[in-house]
Amino acid sequence: MTKTEVIVIGAGAAGLFCATEAGKRGRKVIVFDHAKRLGGKILMSGGGRCNFTNTYTSHENFLSQNPHFCKSALSQYTQWDFISLVNEYGIKHHEKTLGQLFCDDSAKDIVDLLLAECKKANVDIKNRTEIIGIEYVDNRYVVNTSQGVFSSESLVIATGGLSMPKLGATPFGYRVAEQFGLPIIPTKAALVPFTLQEHDKAVIGELSGISVDANASCNNTNFNESILFTHRGLSGPAVLQISSFWDPGQEVEFDLFPNADLLQDLLEQQQSNPEIQLSTALGKHYSKRFVQAAIPYFELDNKPLKQYNAKQLQSAADAFTQWRIKPNGTEGYRTAEVTLGGVDTDYVSSKNMQVKDQEGLFFIGEVLDVTGWLGGYNFQWAWSSGWAAGQVA
Ligand code: FAD
Repeated sequence: MTKTEVIVIGAGAAGLFCATEAGKRGRKVIVFDHAKRLGGKILMSGGGRCNFTNTYTSHENFLSQNPHFCKSALSQYTQWDFISLVNEYGIKHHEKTLGQLFCDDSAKDIVDLLLAECKKANVDIKNRTEIIGIEYVDNRYVVNTSQGVFSSESLVIATGGLSMPKLGATPFGYRVAEQFGLPIIPTKAALVPFTLQEHDKAVIGELSGISVDANASCNNTNFNESILFTHRGLSGPAVLQISSFWDPGQEVEFDLFPNADLLQDLLEQQQSNPEIQLSTALGKHYSKRFVQAAIPYFELDNKPLKQYNAKQLQSAADAFTQWRIKPNGTEGYRTAEVTLGGVDTDYVSSKNMQVKDQEGLFFIGEVLDVTGWLGGYNFQWAWSSGWAAGQVA
C-alpha cells in the first residue's frame, strides 16, 4: 500500500485547484482521475475560451437548498484572487458581457495554469485510473485503484456532477457521500436547452440558428439575455439560465422585445407608415425568416398597419412580448452544463468543505449542492471551494 497525506479524486477544476493549495502547504498530494485527458470540461468550456470567473460573483448567483452555504468560501477566495492568478500567468482575457471573463486565446491556458501550479506544489496526478473502492480504516482513507492501493489522512471528493457523461461525468461522488451517510439532494440537469412539444417543434425547428434578445421568466425569476432557436428546441443564454429554475410541466414566458415597448413602436410605425404590412414593421427588429415563421405561429394576420385597430395591434405586440410555451423537457445531462442538487451541504462545513462528522473527508466543486448561474460562476465555485478545502486537507 502506498501512503500519502492527501488523496483527491477528480482532476477537474476544483480537484486540481485544491491539490495545488494543499501541496503548497507541504502536504503530499495524489490526484486520481479516470479520464485520459486532463481538464476535458475546462477545454470545452466557454466555447473553447473558458469563462473562468465573473467579476460580479456573489452568493446570489448560486442555487442551493442552503443559499448561505457558498458565502464563506466565495469570500475566502474571490473572483479577484483568481483574476490575479490568471494575470500572474500572463493569460490574456476579456469581459464578454455581464462581468463574464473569457480567455482571449484558449481554455487550454487555464488547464496549463492548473497543471503548472500542481507541478510547483509537487502534486502527483494519476489519470486513467479507475477507483475500485474506498474504506475508512484506523482513521485513514484506503483507496483501491486500478494502479494499486493508496491510503491517506485526507480524502477530497471532486468528481463533479452528472452533466456530460462523454467527458467522464459519473455519480461516483454521490455514492461516496452515501457510503459515509450523507444525503443527496435530488439532482437535475441544469443550464440545459429545452426540447419542445411536437406542434411547437414543427414551426420552431424552421428557425434553427436564429438568435433573438429575450427576457425569459419562470418561477418568479427572469433573465434578460438572448435565446437561440435550434433544430431540437430552444437554447441560448436566457434559456440555459431559466432552465435551472424550471420544473417539468411548467410554462416559460418569453418577452421577445425586452428592451423597448413593441406596442409603442408599432403604433408609431402605423402613424408614419400606414401602408406597410405587419411583417415589414416587425422586420425592422427581427430577421425576415423569424417574422415569416412567427406570424403564422402566433396566429396573427399579416395586413397593412392601417387596417389594425389599437386592440389588434396590442394583441400582435403581446404575442411577441408574452410568448408562453410549455417545454416538453430538457436535453438532459447529455448537453447540460451543470447538475443541480448534489451532496447535502448541511453535512459539510461551509468554511472548509470538510464533512462535519467525518474528519478528513471533503467534498468540493459541483458534486456539492451548489450550482451557479451561467456566466463563470461555476468555475468560481470550483476555485473557491477547492481553495477552502486546500487550506486544511
Ligand atoms: P469537473 O470539472 O466535472 O471534474 C470532475 C472530474 O472527476 C473529471 O475530470 C472526471 O473525469 C472525474 N471523475 C468523475 N467520476 C470519476 C470516477 N468515477 N473516477 C475517477 N474520476 C472521476 N462553468 C463556468 O463557470 N464557465 C464556463 O465557461 C463553463 N462552460 C461549460 C461548458 C460545458 C460544455 C460544460 C459541460 C460545463 C461548463 N461549465 C462552465 C461548468 C463547469 O465546467 C463545471 O461546473 C466545473 O467544471 C465543475 O468542476 P468540478 O471540478 O467540480 O468537476
